[in-house]
Amino acid sequence: MKVAVSQDKCIAAGQCTLHAEAVFEQNEDDGLVVLLEQHPAAEHAEAVRTAARFCPAQAIQIDE
Ligand code: SF4
Repeated sequence: MKVAVSQDKCIAAGQCTLHAEAVFEQNEDDGLVVLLEQHPAAEHAEAVRTAARFCPAQAIQIDE
């Protein structure tokens, strides 16, 4: 799995960190998403899919 985020689309809603805190973080200043793991371990794959599904801005792209 390869993950990418678009900070241009991100609206700092926080769904990604809520669902997959090992892979996503939010910038302390503006709350925008920060990608911690471009290639998450298999154990985090489902959480990343959930985060992408719940992101209201479609700012998370997954390449399976
Ligand atoms: S869930 Fe989407 S909009 Fe919200 S912080 Fe994460 S990437 Fe940004």
